[in-house]
Amino acid sequence: MKITRLLDWIILLIGIVSTSLATTYVYKKNLKEDQLRFDYETKAIIRRIQNRMQTYESALIELRAFLRNTPDFSKERIKSFIHDTQIIDRMPGLTGIGYAEIYRKNENYSSSVIILEPQNKRNQRALGFDMYAEPLRRKAMDEARDYNHAVMSDAVILVQENVGENFLGFNLYLPHYRKGADITTMEGKRKALLGFVYSPFRAGELFKAALQDVNLVLDVEIFQGEYAKNKVYFDSHPGEEEMKLVKFTEMMINGRKLIIRTAPLPDFGLASSKLKTSLVFIGGMFLTLILYYIYFITRKQIQIAHVATQEKEKLLQKEKEHVAARDDFLSIASHELKTPLTSLKLQAQVMLRAIAKKDQSVLTPERITNLVKQIDSQTTRLTRLVDDMLDISRIRTGRLKIEKETVDLTEVILDVVERLKPQFQNVTGEIPLLEIQQNIHGNWDRFRLEQVITNLLTNAIRYGNGKTVTVKTAVENTCAKICVIDQGIGIAKENRARIFDRFERAGMSANEVSGLGLGLYITNQIIKAHGGSIHVESEPGKGSTFIVELPLSDERQPVSKS
Ligand code: ADP
Repeated sequence: MKITRLLDWIILLIGIVSTSLATTYVYKKNLKEDQLRFDYETKAIIRRIQNRMQTYESALIELRAFLRNTPDFSKERIKSFIHDTQIIDRMPGLTGIGYAEIYRKNENYSSSVIILEPQNKRNQRALGFDMYAEPLRRKAMDEARDYNHAVMSDAVILVQENVGENFLGFNLYLPHYRKGADITTMEGKRKALLGFVYSPFRAGELFKAALQDVNLVLDVEIFQGEYAKNKVYFDSHPGEEEMKLVKFTEMMINGRKLIIRTAPLPDFGLASSKLKTSLVFIGGMFLTLILYYIYFITRKQIQIAHVATQEKEKLLQKEKEHVAARDDFLSIASHELKTPLTSLKLQAQVMLRAIAKKDQSVLTPERITNLVKQIDSQTTRLTRLVDDMLDISRIRTGRLKIEKETVDLTEVILDVVERLKPQFQNVTGEIPLLEIQQNIHGNWDRFRLEQVITNLLTNAIRYGNGKTVTVKTAVENTCAKICVIDQGIGIAKENRARIFDRFERAGMSANEVSGLGLGLYITNQIIKAHGGSIHVESEPGKGSTFIVELPLSDERQPVSKS
């Protein structure tokens, strides 16, 4: 039983562990897949931004090439170049392209925007502005000049903006050197510098345009230089917060560091999402429970079948034992009946022969008296046997009648002892020791009570080894307690319960002590019919004590009248 319990738990545990392992495996696999897809998407976004910046850079390069090859350029010529080449239209998102001249007085530089196309209201505000006077712009211009690169300024608010428009922006500068000058050294570059072709950008609009035709499944935030609230250039989905798989990518572009923060949007469809993982777990657990249930039902059925087989075998065994006991009973019963009849028949034949021969030596008064005494005792015995058998049949058919009346227990015991006196004197040489409490009156069937005490005392004589028998009575609670104590052969533990069954004799063969194995069965049934109980305490070789407890009166036990 314990092992099957353990097996139950083990099976359940295996189910749970394998479900957990499967869930972890699926979760990890999905997470890896998510990570790969997420990295891919992030890279695609970065590539887009890079491409876009390169496009703008190439616009500046184009304009610079024009300036270099047109030594006598004027505002008008620049303007018509920009228009003719449709440079602005070709560069999506470009809001302006222009040229700022540099003036040098001794070591001091200043600058002025001389042209910024297209000439709209916003761009016009920049004309004449000295960008070089502003530190962030100057820093970028110096870097562009010294390295001959397109350089992006740090975040500034463009001069084009209206008052109150605090959009972060930046300028992209490309140095324009005098044609033919030696620009291989830094010194040379500084000397040859004439001005900067440049483009101003509102950062937010620029990145928005760059990512416009991408199906964004990530939340993209772009920061200038560091991840800080006041450095945010662009936020694709303000307010969206998906904490899983957040990625920070640093990229250097035109001399400035951008931080790109990407995080999956719901559209990304995380395979490792809680819901999907939970589904695997719930599915696994469900399967485990179903399998466990099937196993449990099967096991129960096997158990039931097993118990049924065992029960069947037990019944069969009992049946066999019963048949064997009945066969024993029949052979003992016929022996018990036959023996006295044979002896009586023999005596009768002897007498008949003597009468025919008028043999006075046989027909003496003593012999005749003896014969009659034998006839009396044997018929009493036969009557008892037949009575017992009749009682058995009554018990079996439920016809054992109990006729209750007020009975004095002491009186009954004394009567039975008196009746059994000759047998006691024959076997033990004395009448039983009586430790009797007077005045125990109960509502019992007197005749049946006599039968009970007779049976117990007869057994005490038969199995008592000829030693003193004691009868005790007392009242305990609402019961009369009767103990019949002998010092005889005793009863082995394993036989103590079954001697109260029909035809059961405790390891006794018919030859040792005669008896049908009915007495205690009948006794037990009578006591039960009175609502009482009987049990035996015994030590083999030392004796037995039969203890009867009879309720003094029992309301639940109606007195049956025949
Ligand atoms: P019987 O005595 O006719 O065999 P009982 O039903 O009276 O039938 O007793 C059943 C069996 O119980 C007896 O065969 C005997 O083995 C055992 N038994 C009964 N009373 C005693 C006793 N006082 N001491 C030892 N064994 C006893």
